[in-house]
Amino acid sequence: IIAHIDHGKSTLADRFLELTKTIPQNKMKEQVLDRMDLERERGITIKLQPVRMEYRGYELNLIDTPGHVDFTYEVSRSLAAVEGAVLVIDATQGIQAQTLANLYMALAQDLTIIPVINKIDLPNADVEKTTKEICSLLDCQVEDIISVSAKTGTNIETVLQKIVEVVPAPKGEVKNPARALIFDSLFDEYRGVVAFVRVVDGQFRAGDQIDFLATRTSSEVLELGMFKPDFCKTDQLKAGEIGYLVTGLKDVKKSRVGDTIVMAGQKIQALSGYKEAKPMVFAGIFCQNGNDYPKLRKAVEELKLTDASFSFEPHQAKALGFGFRCGFLGLLHLEIITERLKREFSLELVVTVPSVAYQVSLLTNKIIAVTNAQDWPDINQIKQVREPWMKVDIISPAGYIGAIMQLVQEFKGIYIDTEYLDQDRAILHYQIPLSFILVDFYDRLKSASQGYASLNYDFLEYRPVAVVKLDILVAEELVEALSSIVYQEDAYKRGRAITQKLKSALSRQLFEVKVQAAIGSKVIASERISAMRKDVTAKLYGGDVTRKMKLLKKQKKGKKRMKNQGKVNIPPEAYLAVLKR
Ligand code: GDP
Ligand code: MG
Repeated sequence: IIAHIDHGKSTLADRFLELTKTIPQNKMKEQVLDRMDLERERGITIKLQPVRMEYRGYELNLIDTPGHVDFTYEVSRSLAAVEGAVLVIDATQGIQAQTLANLYMALAQDLTIIPVINKIDLPNADVEKTTKEICSLLDCQVEDIISVSAKTGTNIETVLQKIVEVVPAPKGEVKNPARALIFDSLFDEYRGVVAFVRVVDGQFRAGDQIDFLATRTSSEVLELGMFKPDFCKTDQLKAGEIGYLVTGLKDVKKSRVGDTIVMAGQKIQALSGYKEAKPMVFAGIFCQNGNDYPKLRKAVEELKLTDASFSFEPHQAKALGFGFRCGFLGLLHLEIITERLKREFSLELVVTVPSVAYQVSLLTNKIIAVTNAQDWPDINQIKQVREPWMKVDIISPAGYIGAIMQLVQEFKGIYIDTEYLDQDRAILHYQIPLSFILVDFYDRLKSASQGYASLNYDFLEYRPVAVVKLDILVAEELVEALSSIVYQEDAYKRGRAITQKLKSALSRQLFEVKVQAAIGSKVIASERISAMRKDVTAKLYGGDVTRKMKLLKKQKKGKKRMKNQGKVNIPPEAYLAVLKR
């Protein structure tokens, strides 16, 4: 099931599960396939979720998918494991940006598409208009579209009937050598890696010796089964089926999404697998408490198993200690990952300023990718810097086009053209630098269109940009972790903002402290934190004035020493104040 966010995928899945009696009535709840606490709290699907249903003698393997653009990798992997897609469209919203994005992905996999209009129970449902939009989009007939209410259950059985009627059965052969595609996985503390697979050929049984082709790893099937949606043990998994294999692997790096599992020793061709997810946004993740590093390492490795689009590599920052430089598909993805790390692994984290990846050409003609200011090359070695630009599609009612045009201009976007879905709804095509989209473009778009516009974006290309590394000095010492890459024209504004913030975040010291922002050796903004005078004579009661002078002299000496050392201890809160948007 694919759709734009909130069009009713998970609710439609609920009705399927009820109708096929896959989940007993007393265990049913709304959006039952949203199984993570985080999904239920936010009311959004983050993870793909497979489930097996029986319907009139047919075995249907369904995968519910997320709709948000940051989780498209979940959708693309799901699509590679199935034969058809139910495309859900909300009758009150019509076609939206992720409707198109997900549809095109499904078409690229040659899947059979079943268009379904949902929420026809709502008073503002416009079935006729939505039908027209779909007909022209898919080049299909009115009769091909099923109108349903996933909430009230109207017409749900028609969709199941249509699925068995038009979606082709899987092509694989049970008699061929076994091959299975890993489309997802998770880590079980006791049983090791559990791989979610689509068996393409042959069959697997418990006890089989298996090989992972890409990682050249061998293991044994400890248990296998299907999703109901809980793990449900079976004797075998054969061609065409979706299920899980408990592999017993303790090293999480040995099982990779997109890899092919075969019988031990078989020399057969690997399945085509997936393109690796391309991280768009980077940020450092560090522990508040340095001793937690091993725990953080284990946590990111395990999380990678259940979220293949998340990437990480060890990283050390002077002040923040050991941590990881991580890659995400977007800011929501970053937010979800850090939230999961905190909850599922009880970690206290510091997350650095998110950044895009820059392409830097050096005078030596070498081209390097730089995702953090700490790795920024010396200014004298740089020939050119390029930043990522995105192809942006915005779908909006025609009435808001003016406001959107204005907004995009403010975000340095380049207008390409406009397509009309019908008289009063348009798709606007733009090109916008990713770093602008990251800031608050989506929120601004929503308010410019009173919530009606939707947005999808895809990587386009790298283009030249004027950026500089902005350094922060505290007490004349460079604080590495606070450096950032900024647009040259914004450097002064950013420098002032950071030094001011830092001034209020740092506690006063026994000596005067300068907080400066600099580009190379040139200081562009400066703040002073005046010295705090500690009353060293407070403990003296009356009496001897020479004793007082002696103490004050000692203090002066101490201050001088401190000033020479120039050491200001920057507490993590101060970092947070600056780094957090
Ligand atoms: P998903 O993001 O596509 O999985 O959407 P959900 O299934 O989570 O549904 C989003 C919201 O729409 C929820 O509040 C559902 O209760 C509501 N919803 C889904 N289907 C219908 C429907 O047919 N009618 C009405 N009135 N609301 C629906
Ligand atoms: Mg959902």
